[in-house]
Amino acid sequence: MNKHDSERIAGMLESLGNLEVGTIEESDVVIYMTCCVREAADVRLYGQAASIKNIPLRKNSPFDKRIVCVGGCIGQRDGNTLIDKVSNINVVFGTHNIGNLPALIDKAKDDNVVEILERSENFPTDLPTKRDNFWAAWLPIMIGCNNFCSYCIVPYVRGREKSRPMQDIIDEAIQYKEQGVKELTLLGQNVNSYDHGKFYELLCEIDKIGFDRLRFATSHPKDISDNVIKAFGTLKSLQPQLHLPVQSGSNRILKEMNRRYTAEHYLGLIDKLRNVNPDIALSTDIIVGFPGESEDDFMDTYNLIDKVGYTQVFSFIYSRREGTPAAKIPDDTPKEVIQDRFNRLVDLIAKRAYEINQKDKDTIVDVLFEGESKKDKSIQTGKTPKGQTVHVKGKNLAGQIKKVQIDECKTWYLTGQIL
Ligand code: SAH
Ligand code: SF4
Repeated sequence: MNKHDSERIAGMLESLGNLEVGTIEESDVVIYMTCCVREAADVRLYGQAASIKNIPLRKNSPFDKRIVCVGGCIGQRDGNTLIDKVSNINVVFGTHNIGNLPALIDKAKDDNVVEILERSENFPTDLPTKRDNFWAAWLPIMIGCNNFCSYCIVPYVRGREKSRPMQDIIDEAIQYKEQGVKELTLLGQNVNSYDHGKFYELLCEIDKIGFDRLRFATSHPKDISDNVIKAFGTLKSLQPQLHLPVQSGSNRILKEMNRRYTAEHYLGLIDKLRNVNPDIALSTDIIVGFPGESEDDFMDTYNLIDKVGYTQVFSFIYSRREGTPAAKIPDDTPKEVIQDRFNRLVDLIAKRAYEINQKDKDTIVDVLFEGESKKDKSIQTGKTPKGQTVHVKGKNLAGQIKKVQIDECKTWYLTGQIL
C-alpha cells in the first residue's frame, strides 16, 4: 500500500512538471513514504532523514534549500515531533492528504509545514499514478482497517475502513487493461470486507475485464467468504495463489491478538481452498514472541506451519507499538528465547517451501517476466501463476508471458528453459 501511495505521489508531481531523479545529490525535494508497523522502519526513517543533512543541494537548483518531506504512517503518527527531532525535515504530511503535497512543498519554501488530517475528504487513489512496470498495476479498493488486532498500529494511522465505489475501481481497471497491464493486484488491509460483503461481486466484475492475471491482498481469515474461495475455481484470471495471514497457531494467543478466529477455523478454510484447487499456493504472516507466548503456544504455530505447507511465510518478531492494547501486556520472555523460536520457524518455513516447490519439477508453467536478474544479466526472472520466482537464460523478456519447462526447484526459486 505504501509503495502504491508513492506511485501516486510520483504520478501527481510529474503531472505538475516535476522530474523524478535517481539520487539524493540531484534532488531539490526528497519525500520519505513511511511505515510504522514495526520498530525497525521507525529507526531507519529517523536515521536516513537526519543523515541527508550532509548532502549539499545541487549547484543549479532553483531552491534555497533541499525540501525534506515525511509522509505516510510515521508522519500521521508523529506530526510536529518529527520536525522537533530532525531539524532538516520541512514538511510532514499524513496518510489522508497525499493530494495536498504539492501545496505543502510550495509553502515549505518559506517555512516548515505540518498537515495531518483525521480522515480523507477524497479517496486518495483518485490521483494519477506513475508505475514502475508497464505490465503490472496495483489497484486499491479500500483504505483503512476496522479490525484493531491488539498488536497493530495500522487502524490508528490509516483510519477506519473506507471502500472505494465499485464503478471507480472498474473504470480504473479498464484504463489499465487498455494500457497493456497484464497483472492486476487489488489492494486493501482486509479486501474481504470490501463494501459490506461485495468483494466477490467486485472480483467477478474485474475478472470480466480479462487481465492475464488477477491477484488480491490482504485477506483476513475471519472475513473470507465461501464464494470468494470458490472463485479460485471459477474465475479465469484469478491466479492460484492466496496470502492468508494466520499470525499464530495458538488459540489463546489468537484471542489475545483479537484476531477473532481459531486455528481450527483457519485450517478449515485451507481445506476448503484445497478442495477448490489442490495446487493453490498459500502464503501467510506470523508474529513470533507476542507478549506471554509460551513454548506450547509457539509449538502450536510451528505445527500449523508444518501442516499447511506454505510457499512463502513472512515471519516477524513482535514489535511493541505504543498506543496498541498489546503494548500494555507484561512480558518477561527473554529476547534469546524469542530469537531461538524465530530461527526454528525460519528453518521449518524453508524446509516446507522446498518440499512444496518439488511438485512443480518437470512441469510447464506460464511465466510473466519482470526483467534481468540483479545478480546475473544473462538471467531473466519472472513469476509463475502461483507467484514463485523463476530464473531462465534469456534477454529482454520483461512484460512477456512465456511457457517455461521447469527443471529445478530450489527453496525460493525455480529454474527452467523457455519453450
Ligand atoms: N492487514 C494485514 C496486515 C498488515 S500489517 C492483515 O491483517 O493481514 C502486515 C503484517 O505485519 C501483519 O500481518 C503482521 O504479521 C505484521 N505486524 C503487524 N503489527 C506487528 C507488530 N506490532 N509486530 C510485529 N509484526 C507486526
Ligand atoms: Fe493490522 Fe489486523 Fe488491520 Fe491487519 S487486520 S491491518 S493486522 S489491525
